[in-house]
Amino acid sequence: MDVNSSKIEEIVKQVLKEITGAPTAESATSVAEVIPKTSRAALLSKLEQFEIKEYPIPELGDDDILVKVEGCGICGTDAHEFKRDPFSLIPVVLGHEGTGEVVKMGKNVKKDSAGKPLNIGDKVVSCMIFKDNPDITMFDLNKQNVGGADVYGLLPDDDTHLNGWFADYIVIRGGSTIFNVSDLDLDSRILIEPCAVLIHAVERAKTTGILRFNSRVVVQGCGPIGLICIAVLRTMGIENIVAVDGEQKRLDFAKQMGAETSVNFKEYKGIEALAKGVENAFGGHLADFAFQCTGSPAGHANIYKFIRNGGGLCELGFFINGGDAIINPHFDICAKEITTVGSWVYTLRDYATTFDFLKRAKGIGLPIEKLITHKYPLSQINEGFATNLKMEGLKIAVVNE
Ligand SMILES: [Zn+2]
Repeated sequence: MDVNSSKIEEIVKQVLKEITGAPTAESATSVAEVIPKTSRAALLSKLEQFEIKEYPIPELGDDDILVKVEGCGICGTDAHEFKRDPFSLIPVVLGHEGTGEVVKMGKNVKKDSAGKPLNIGDKVVSCMIFKDNPDITMFDLNKQNVGGADVYGLLPDDDTHLNGWFADYIVIRGGSTIFNVSDLDLDSRILIEPCAVLIHAVERAKTTGILRFNSRVVVQGCGPIGLICIAVLRTMGIENIVAVDGEQKRLDFAKQMGAETSVNFKEYKGIEALAKGVENAFGGHLADFAFQCTGSPAGHANIYKFIRNGGGLCELGFFINGGDAIINPHFDICAKEITTVGSWVYTLRDYATTFDFLKRAKGIGLPIEKLITHKYPLSQINEGFATNLKMEGLKIAVVNE
């Protein structure tokens, strides 16, 4: 085909005109220009019922940040609050696994909590609200976890109202931890909070000195927490992982997330047979280390049987009180000399480490984003919670259109 140069010039001119001529939808509606006067928020007004309310967006203080919410995961904690209100928060705007775009900032805001510059248009997550607790800091590796700190999405309702991520906008007040995570995609950002729980758990596990590259590791419970646990171990270079659960679909997913083999406890009668099943899965060895990721007391009682003499255990399944477990201190702990650590929430440092974990997991091809199995618009948040309570899917997210 013969295309002469004048024709090419004409085409180039035409294309350039198309590119630069009419303003695109994006450039015409820069978010900063279109902040509305009010914002929707899902208020849990009574047990098992969210009402979509319309609240005025308040004036920002010099240290505050207004974030346009893009999405927020539904956490097990949210589900408990929805069903039973164990924290006596009702009425409350829930949602703490949220992320969105900075649309307005007070004049004092220049950087995020890690010292990274923060600007309008940046994508952020929040972690907690400081209460001048010198034991919770960003840069000291040995500082305590943020358990007990105030968290957006678990604050009692007040005049600001926009205190949780199940809304169109959230007001982040001065003194809160906020991180610029513009280099992560939306799904990754929604998964940061639950992933931080596992970064912390694996750090706790490492303090035993038992977890090594070639350790045989059993992960019991393949809900989001157990599945992310497997992914974190895998990104650390640990490959000999056996997943234990009663749902075949979850066990299959555990393999995609990096487990080498899986054991379906429903195929075994009694704990002795199940322990044998785990031993066989490791080629005739018990586990060097176990992560207990179910909230079931029976799960806790069983886990010791999977661990070799001198092995280690990280218990992280009881995020809330799930009742008492019966173990035999002689057989389960003393005689086997098991080193046990508990893990709960995360430190601020773990939170920041999580951003790199998410990049590494993607880098080695782990399908982290598949953990989000359902997405609902804010207007259907009640349906989203119903799906969560039915234990359908894994991570359910509310995503703004
Ligand atoms: Zn959570």
